[in-house]
Amino acid sequence: RFITFEGIDGAGKSTQIAATETWIRAMRHDVVRSREPGGTPLGEKLRELLLHEPMHLETEALLMFAARREHLAQVISPALQKGTWVVCDRFSDASFAYQSGGRGLSVDKFFQLEQWVHPGFQPDLTFLFDLDPAKAAERLAAGRQDHDRFEREQRDFFVRVREAYLERARRSAGRIAVVDAARPVEEVTKEILDILQQRFA
Ligand code: C5P
Repeated sequence: RFITFEGIDGAGKSTQIAATETWIRAMRHDVVRSREPGGTPLGEKLRELLLHEPMHLETEALLMFAARREHLAQVISPALQKGTWVVCDRFSDASFAYQSGGRGLSVDKFFQLEQWVHPGFQPDLTFLFDLDPAKAAERLAAGRQDHDRFEREQRDFFVRVREAYLERARRSAGRIAVVDAARPVEEVTKEILDILQQRFA
């Protein structure tokens, strides 16, 4: 199984990824945890560039999908073939939301890249942590200091990213579960575990 986690920066993915990993292990499955951009040595190098180097929006999209191609080849596909579960912090839904929704990459080009890099392949389940960008910004300000160039974006950028995520969820035929991330962490965790139980136990 391939489970991914999405949401704007500050929506609180990390805690819920850890809870999911624990649940999968408790079900006695092998699991690997990964992230995008990144997930492989080459992908992590591309991540560094993506997070810190200003670039044209199409360059950004191409590098995201290049890193993803490598990630699929080196990590995701081999794991799934062995029956190992994969939990991943972001995947192509993030490109739809950030590169298309946020930056304005044409949706056509997004679909072409997606079709090229993983034709017919999608996560089995995606959790979308939905949160008002103003709230997310508060959480980020209270936490980390080392903001990357994405986190420094303007509020209206995150409003577009959020809208794109929600649109993608509406068109996902139930693959993307939208979770209200404004609630206390424990409540969110409970909902996550309920959904995992319903779908996979
Ligand atoms: O989720 P994480 O903090 O690891 O993401 C790193 C940064 O890259 C975030 O600021 C996120 O918004 C950005 N990103 C992006 N497009 C993607 C994936 C991540 O702009 N497809």
